Parts: sequence; structure tokens; C-alpha cells
Amino acid sequence: MIKQLVKSAEKLIETSKNIVIVSHKNPDGDAVGSSMGLHFFLKNMGIESTVILPNDFPDFLKWMPGVETALNFEKQNSQSVNALEKADLIFTLDFNSLSRVGDMNQFLEKSEACFIMIDHHQQPDDYAAVMYSDPSIGSTCEMVFHFIKAFEKVDLIDSDIATLLYTGIMTDTGSFRFPSTTAVTHNVIAQLLNAGANNAEIHQNVYDANSQSRIKLLGIALDNLHVLEEYNTAYITLSQEELDKNNFKKGDTEGFVNYALSVTGIIFAVIFIENRQEKIVKMSLRSKGDFSVNDVARDHYNGGGHINAAGGKSELSLEETVTQFISILPQYKEALTA
Ligand code: 5GP
Ligand code: MN
Repeated sequence: MIKQLVKSAEKLIETSKNIVIVSHKNPDGDAVGSSMGLHFFLKNMGIESTVILPNDFPDFLKWMPGVETALNFEKQNSQSVNALEKADLIFTLDFNSLSRVGDMNQFLEKSEACFIMIDHHQQPDDYAAVMYSDPSIGSTCEMVFHFIKAFEKVDLIDSDIATLLYTGIMTDTGSFRFPSTTAVTHNVIAQLLNAGANNAEIHQNVYDANSQSRIKLLGIALDNLHVLEEYNTAYITLSQEELDKNNFKKGDTEGFVNYALSVTGIIFAVIFIENRQEKIVKMSLRSKGDFSVNDVARDHYNGGGHINAAGGKSELSLEETVTQFISILPQYKEALTA
């Protein structure tokens, strides 16, 4: 099936003059890695493209090859709008609903460009002419590898592309430990190592780059851990005040929710992070086994994602959000205690 998708994609690429690659708001390692990886792959085929990210991404990803050439829609707005208005082909990577790109959404909605989606989230919207959507794959970066392979152009994967794709696979699979990590994933990783990805360096760049204030903030998050044994559920809160006191920077809270999920017996974990500027509480939801946090995020928090990892938001205060969250748990009691 992917061969056919790639044939259609190839035709679109050949006949397009202005190619843009976009990813979701608050880009993570998979969003940045897949976008830049595809960009450099096209470049190695002699095809120019422009990468546009809706807003800034965390410092621990700033070392990734070529990221300084990606446009930030918030900071380089007129350049980004110009590229979007001229685009006749737009790749949307690592998301499947145009609402995931924030204010950039209006330009995608009104664009007459063809869309190619490469994504691994559940329940894709229907906006793309070519849709490579597979929720069984752990990362969009792994999908970009399969896409390149179906092009029969794996030899065009240089060390920069290998590094970018490795990084996204690593971050989205929790360093190869989530159930979405398969023998195929490891096989792809082996090929990326052969192509020049330096695994030890990548792990260090991403995970050993903690500021002191981030570790202090982790301490506060752990102190705010609440366990609801009756529901095998744990949650963490971080208020705006706690973030401000600890010099919070984008990305600092990445992974904190996993500590809640790591408590023995816990199968559902949530972190609630207050964002006074946006007047929301941002939530990251995680689970183990069959309990679908994608469903919880879609049903209650205007969000979504995967079965075991999803995000959403609440417009109530932090305290009210937690109270409301506790009030919905009884409806999931059976699934949480089965
Ligand atoms: P995180 O909790 O790390 O921000 O996101 C976990 C997963 O859920 C990621 O795959 C992310 O793309 C997705 N996700 C996060 N926030 C949202 C959201 O507001 N809406 C949707 N549909 N997906 C989200
Ligand atoms: Mn992803």
C-alpha cells in the first residue's frame, strides 16, 4: 500500500513548484525530526522545500541538524505567510487535524495546495490528497524512513537525516521502551546508525541537558504527586506560580508525567500545567495497557493523541480542572481496575 501512496506522492512532488513542510504546535522531537528529515531528503533529491513550525521548540532540540533554517510562524510571520500562500504542495507531519497548528490553521484551511499527510495519530481528519496514516507506528520519523524506503532512495539518507530521524524515533518511543517499539523500529534504527547517526551523542544532547531550574521544578512536580489508588490513577499539578519561580522554559516539563505513571500499580497518569497567558490548563495524559487516554482527551479535554499518550486542555482554573478530573473517574472505574 505504501508503494502506491509513494507513487502518488512522487507525482505531486514532481509537478509542484513550491513545497512547504509543516508540523504541529509546540513541536517535539518527532515533529522537528520528521520535518527536517523530509526536508533534507527532498534536498538530496534536488528538490527545495520550506519547513514552517507554528511556534518555538525546546532548547534540548536546538542542536538538531538544520533546525535554524526552519521558519517559526510566530516569530517569522510574514515570511511564513508568504511561503504558505505560494505553496502548491504542503506536507503535514506528525499531526492529523488542521486545528493542531494554532494560528497557522487559517492559512492551511484557505490554501489551494495539495496536502500530503504523514502521521501516526489516531482518527485522521480528511484533508489530504495523499494520506499515509498509521497509528500502529511509534513515530512519524519511522514513517518518514518507510516513505524514503518506498521511494527506493535509502542511499540518500546522510548522517544529518539519520540523526534527525533517530532523534524523533527515540523521543516518541520513550527511548525504545513503549509498546509501539517493534523489531521493525529497531531495524530502522540499525540502518540509521549505519547511515551515520551517533546514538550516544543524540541521547546525551536530548537527555543530559537539564538546567538546574528544570531539576528543581521536577522536585516540585514530584512533591505535587497525588495517587488515587481506587482508580490506579496518579496526577501531578504545576501552577503558573511554581513555573515562574523556577524559571520555566518551553520543554522543561517534558517527561514529568512519566514519573506519575511509574508508580507501582498506576495505569493512568496526568500532569496538569497551568498556563495563565493562554488561560488554559494544558494536560498530558499517559496510560499503560488498553486504557485509551486518546478517548479521555477527546471526550473531555478537546484533545487527542494515541491510546497510551495524549494531550488536551481545560479552560477551568487549575483547582477546578483537578476537581472536574476526579469527578469523571468513576465512569472509567471498570476500565481502570479491570
Ligand atoms: P504531550 O502530552 O507530550 O504534549 O502529547 C502526547 C501526544 O498527544 C502527542 O502525540 C501529541 O501530538 C498529542 N497531543 C498533545 N496535545 C494535543 C491536543 O491538544 N490535541 C490533540 N489532538 N493531540 C494532542
Ligand atoms: Mn509523533
